[in-house]
Amino acid sequence: MELIKVTIYTTRPGTEAVTASLFQLSIYETEIEDPFDLETIRNYKDGPIFDYLDEDLLKKDDEEVKVYVYFKNDDEGRRKVQEVKLHMMSLKSKEMEGCFDFKVDLGRLYVKDEIIRSEDYENNWKKNFHPVRIIENLVVKPTWEDYEEKDGELVMEIDPEMAFGTGSHETTRLSMKLLSDVDIKDKTVLDIGTGSGILSIGAALLGAKKVYGIDIDEEAVRVARGNAELNNLSHIIEISRRDFKEGFNIKADIIVANLMADLVVDLCKIIKDQGKDEPPVILSGIIKEKEKEVKDALTNMGYSILKTERERDWTALTVKP
Ligand code: SAH
Repeated sequence: MELIKVTIYTTRPGTEAVTASLFQLSIYETEIEDPFDLETIRNYKDGPIFDYLDEDLLKKDDEEVKVYVYFKNDDEGRRKVQEVKLHMMSLKSKEMEGCFDFKVDLGRLYVKDEIIRSEDYENNWKKNFHPVRIIENLVVKPTWEDYEEKDGELVMEIDPEMAFGTGSHETTRLSMKLLSDVDIKDKTVLDIGTGSGILSIGAALLGAKKVYGIDIDEEAVRVARGNAELNNLSHIIEISRRDFKEGFNIKADIIVANLMADLVVDLCKIIKDQGKDEPPVILSGIIKEKEKEVKDALTNMGYSILKTERERDWTALTVKP
């Protein structure tokens, strides 16, 4: 199979605007190559997050940040590439017109596209995905890597293929952190936008008795089911294809949704309309700049904000209707 590899050239502060703009196009799976991150990692001895690091990564000293997105090389994929180009042009003109409250240099926002073979894609990102500790005692391990389990540690295996959720993204880690703060032992969890199934599997490993994972994307559904099976958790985790906007009649003790700012607000509206006795909801994928807007919208709907967690440019909340 052939893929279109799209590279967007930006800056470190521009990354958030670029990914937020891609989110608007329902593009969640991005790969970011940030030389600053490498610098941080290089200086971070015994870091809690990266257990291994590919030496090749440390050799790069290019200053520009690159955001990569991949599409199938078909009509739909080519249409998406055009949309990305238009969005980046519009972002650049907004920057030049001074539309942002803050002064930010988004960089060139140049979009390059090239055709690659899917094997090259797989080999490339597989090189960058290593065991990741997403919360204190829970490690996510790619299927193709070895990891020596330490005492008291929980390890899940993931092959994300093209779905989102390797554990290396802040929004996933924040969701997992908030999930681990709630007592989910013997509880039912609903994971909205399950992606690779990572949070569903995490919830099951933390003792949930039943986990429902839903996703709008058929590929994600297939991948998440595969990952649940890989971890021998198919008897606990049930994955289905569903658009949460069409409503969901799943009773749960806790809901987790790692989506994006606008979508989490839509979701909370739906939850509120669905019934009186709705459970606490963990919301992630909220870009820092939208934290206040999201909180205001939720408070206006009658939600209480129970907890706020932040990592770098991202915020996650636990809220109660
Ligand atoms: N839960 C994973 C993946 C989050 S990415 C993690 O935390 O890492 C967000 C996921 O939400 C994507 O897989 C996307 O397909 C899904 N999604 C987006 N809009 C949705 C909708 N309306 N209904 C259900 N799933 C949706």
